[in-house]
Amino acid sequence: MPTGELAAQTLHELRDLIQAGRISADEVVADVLACIERSNPSMRAYLAVDAERIRRQAAQDGPLAGLPITIKDNICVSGEETTCASRILQGFRAPYDATVIARLRQQGARLIPRANMDEFAFGSSTENSAFGPTRNPWAMDRVPGGSSGGSAAAVAAGLAIAALGSDTGGSIRQPASFCGVVGLKPTYGRVSRYGLVAFASSLDQIGPLTKDVTDAALVLSAIAGHDTRDSTSAPLPVPDYLAALRGKVDGLRVGIPKEYLIEGIDPDVRQAIDAAIKACERLGMRTEPVSLPHTSYAVATYYIIATAEASSNLARYDGVKYGFRASTNGEGGLLEMYLRTRTDGFGAEPKRRILLGTYVLSHGYYDAYYLKGLKVRTLIKQDFDRAFERCDLLLTPTAPSPAFRIGEKLDDPLQMYLSDIFTISANLAGVPALSMPCGFTGAGLPVGLQLLAPPFKEDVLLRAAFAYEQATEWHRRKPAMTTG
Ligand code: GLN
Repeated sequence: MPTGELAAQTLHELRDLIQAGRISADEVVADVLACIERSNPSMRAYLAVDAERIRRQAAQDGPLAGLPITIKDNICVSGEETTCASRILQGFRAPYDATVIARLRQQGARLIPRANMDEFAFGSSTENSAFGPTRNPWAMDRVPGGSSGGSAAAVAAGLAIAALGSDTGGSIRQPASFCGVVGLKPTYGRVSRYGLVAFASSLDQIGPLTKDVTDAALVLSAIAGHDTRDSTSAPLPVPDYLAALRGKVDGLRVGIPKEYLIEGIDPDVRQAIDAAIKACERLGMRTEPVSLPHTSYAVATYYIIATAEASSNLARYDGVKYGFRASTNGEGGLLEMYLRTRTDGFGAEPKRRILLGTYVLSHGYYDAYYLKGLKVRTLIKQDFDRAFERCDLLLTPTAPSPAFRIGEKLDDPLQMYLSDIFTISANLAGVPALSMPCGFTGAGLPVGLQLLAPPFKEDVLLRAAFAYEQATEWHRRKPAMTTG
């Protein structure tokens, strides 16, 4: 069998082949590792891969049948280095499994840790990785999106069967859209955050990046559910997401928020979204315009709340408990050690965010920025509550443009922040949202469609996405991985 033939397939296809006795899970793992060995040096979707350890992993029986799942480098896998692509965590080995990891293992999955990412998940391009950017498999001079860019690129290029990412403001959905794969951010509280290195604890969620909607349902079923170790995880039963795919979509009411179809969207993106709206209508969904009036405040609100929480969460990296410690001659004492460790250990973007976050929380500015940000967050949440009184789902572009060039937005943080303009609100409101391929630009870059649902309605989200996927062919296209 030629290298890459198994690695290109989905979890559910491989599971069926294994159950039919046609292939073994070991062959799948071997093929994925061969593809990583061949393409990772140029793509850098993974920070490092210990092939021997991965091959040796025992797998239990279960719905995931010994198949490998790729893990973003901010999710703890017991005994493995977990750096969040930051120098400050270099050498840190996770002392325990995150809850999602334990659940994947119980379902029979094997793990391929250490997908590349923006440092501490701060970014939209994976260029903020301290260990070099990931390249987009559809055009190697372009970014894969971020911060889960390694996970998305690996799935798109057949260097992974499926992957886990994390999403605080779009970090699963925006790279999914740039790489032409499916990415799902679950409802806040649907999936345990225990063992996810915290960025902004009130926004962070773990979710799947997969080759199709069926795999998204399969992985979500495995990782969702209440966990006593995460006090914000919801004590609700987990529906059978696979069974939910088959329900009918006829008559679903789909709102099209007018604030998301604005001037400045790339014309190819606009065209693909318009065509997707028509495709949904052909499936019997009823579309109607809706308004989310506070949308224009979302980016500013997010960068107040997310940086405030990040500055607090990053306070623990001081050279004492985790990873890297700068060497000092000891004369400056403990404070000097903290200062040198944080100066040398953090890259530019974490420093920017620590400064911003500390500022908005400081005495005298707390009310003007942080508290006001929380109030606007409530207004944004109420926009969604109101829209979902009339609609079952909302439909938007995932990002205003396709994948941009490496380096294009690096000197302009504000431009970078604006690439999340359509994904951030879902995190502020806590609602589930999914990105899936809905077309290509003239230059052959994937375009993503975003669907959003009311809290804990992932079943409806997946059902509509599955119906759209069945009616289209976008998810079947694979990158040729050309350079230039
Ligand atoms: N790009 C956004 C940021 O830089 C979102 C990142 C994320 O979701 N982790 O914060």
